[in-house]
Amino acid sequence: MRLLHRLNPGAAPLAERPATVAPVTLAKLTGDRATIAKGQPVGWSPDLARVLSLPRRDLAASYGRADFATLEASLRAPPGTPCVCGTLGKRCPSSLLPIQRLALLEAARTGGGLFPIGVGHGKTLIDLLLPLAMPGCKVAVLLLPSNLRPQLLDVDWQFYGGHWCLPNLAGGRWFRPGLPVLHVITYEKFSTQEGTDLLTRVRPDLIICDEAHKLKDRKSARTGRFLRYLEQHPQTRLVAQSGTLATRTVKDYAHLAEYALRDGSPLPLKHHVVEEWASALDPGLVAAPPGELLKLVDPSHPLAPLEGENEAERERRRVRDAYRRWRNATPGVVATDESAVGMSLTIRTRDPGKVPDELLAHIQTALGGQRPDGEEFVDELQRVVCARQLASGFFHRWRYPAIQGTPQDPELILRWFSRRQEFNRELRERLKRPAEHLDSPGLLVRAAIRAHQSPPYDGDLPTWRAHSWPAWGEIHKRVVHVTEAVWLSDFIVNDAAKWALRKGQPGIVWMEFPELGERIAKAAGVPFYGGGPEASATIIRESGKRSIVASLRAHGTGKNLTMFSRMLFVNPPADGAAWEQAIGRCHRQGQLADDVEVELYQHTAELVGAFQKACDFARFIEQTEGTPQKLCFAHYDGAGHETSPQTQ
Ligand SMILES: [Zn+2]
Repeated sequence: MRLLHRLNPGAAPLAERPATVAPVTLAKLTGDRATIAKGQPVGWSPDLARVLSLPRRDLAASYGRADFATLEASLRAPPGTPCVCGTLGKRCPSSLLPIQRLALLEAARTGGGLFPIGVGHGKTLIDLLLPLAMPGCKVAVLLLPSNLRPQLLDVDWQFYGGHWCLPNLAGGRWFRPGLPVLHVITYEKFSTQEGTDLLTRVRPDLIICDEAHKLKDRKSARTGRFLRYLEQHPQTRLVAQSGTLATRTVKDYAHLAEYALRDGSPLPLKHHVVEEWASALDPGLVAAPPGELLKLVDPSHPLAPLEGENEAERERRRVRDAYRRWRNATPGVVATDESAVGMSLTIRTRDPGKVPDELLAHIQTALGGQRPDGEEFVDELQRVVCARQLASGFFHRWRYPAIQGTPQDPELILRWFSRRQEFNRELRERLKRPAEHLDSPGLLVRAAIRAHQSPPYDGDLPTWRAHSWPAWGEIHKRVVHVTEAVWLSDFIVNDAAKWALRKGQPGIVWMEFPELGERIAKAAGVPFYGGGPEASATIIRESGKRSIVASLRAHGTGKNLTMFSRMLFVNPPADGAAWEQAIGRCHRQGQLADDVEVELYQHTAELVGAFQKACDFARFIEQTEGTPQKLCFAHYDGAGHETSPQTQ
């Protein structure tokens, strides 16, 4: 009861809409089902009925000048507080940004919040002021990625502290009685073994998640910990902020919406209903018809037809658009609309010439479950990774080097390998039932050691009696292995080097595998930027006068690389958000060229499939989040056309 009251204290529905909507052409849809998908249409469920009965709210009309003035007056730092704007070369901020005001007021009124707010809209100050704006908050936790922590604590805290009343920083030098305490915890720390009971020790009444998509994977130790805590402490209030809440599926944040807004979540609370909605909203070739989900459609927002779009595609776009509007009009949800960058973007396929027959044969064998050297794969992922490597002319294998001149015993290696597999199988099974101190491979190994040690362990930590541990524990350090790349062909290396050396047109060669990057860089005589802090510091000082080879994982997000306007994707990722990020290194404010050019290899079925998937994901993000995606608005030139998002 108290919980319900907290969720919607006095939030009157401003504009209620009838739950049944426009005469939806269900007949047409179901009649056409065979061409749309094999899946069942989304059916009626109590969850859907709950979502349809949620109050609707026009955020822009919810608060007025007086509300903003009261909010800012209550948060302003006392007169005479010293400010550091001068030394930072910044202007003194006189008021909050409109989106910051709305987010703080809405979180206070709802007792939680789901904020799909884009980059550069002032999320940091929202993080810092939420503990003060949230009624009765005493202890708050802010979760954020470790690369944002120095900026927050060393720069932003001083800057904002000159003008706004900030909470007490846990472990900080000053403590002002009466103000809430804020614990700043990185997701990385939260993921470590010590992170297992962090929240239980701090016991926050408010948790703020910045870049909340770091918690999208329910199966990860990190997210599991987080959700278990909220499950066990239902009075904890949650605010989740992110510019990219969902990148592949609405399942990415249904659980965050649930704990942020509880019964007021615009997504289903029941897992199987989330799955059902996801089957209609998510990307994928086999999509379920929207069925009852079309009840979310608001007839006063008709969709403009798109050229070349068929009926099924249009229905899908319609239901995604309706879902996004419904979500954003839900109390507790505060969203920004992004605007696109002005310069144009061209994507085209690069033909590397004839693929060697030997490689094509090896790819077939790899997909069938065997590496070119005869090793059998144990899972699907290994097959796909191997096929991706072979498309670039090489593959990874394990080698057991001689130790101080003595070869390792082949029989020992065989025994080591089979015991390793057996232990990993047991570990995978046990990980399906995570708990504090038992929710990551490393913690489980420690628990297994405790369970089998002698004299017996008598401490407070849990133990795990893994049957396969004694055999594996006895042998696991006795064999040493290294990963090595075996090269079969340099046709991609040579072609990528040729691309990098095109006269007067320097660019970035993006790739996934470091050995490949080094080899291309060497062939072209240009620098390679892999992982590590030094590469991060030097890549941003490139002049743009020569090409570079760069790791997509290390440099594909966060950096400004507008000195380049061309890029080549040697290993095209299957992830739409990864493309958006990587292209965004060049295609962004500050780019001086009129056109950014992107080229990619598509010479095997896996590469084509990966790019199709990425385009599918991009369409999903654009239609459900309302953020224009580069893969969707790009101009497709020549051979790349058949895989472009517009023509699928
Ligand atoms: Zn100032």
